[in-house]
Amino acid sequence: MMSLVRLIGFTTLACGCVVGKYREVATSREVAYVEEKGRACGAHGHRRNHTIAVVDTSSARSHVTSKAS
Ligand SMILES: [Zn+2]
Repeated sequence: MMSLVRLIGFTTLACGCVVGKYREVATSREVAYVEEKGRACGAHGHRRNHTIAVVDTSSARSHVTSKAS
């Protein structure tokens, strides 16, 4: 069953990965997907299109990217 999600924004993690944050409409939960794997990233949990735990990104540099896909 597919869940409907809304894009909140993109965040670049310290490791270089770009993470897209989404809100699941049905449950109002925040979920995060790895959009781009950072070149210097050694975290095995960071793989493209994998969900990761939502981290506190308030100190991270965030930017908005328009995604053409
Ligand atoms: Zn990473």
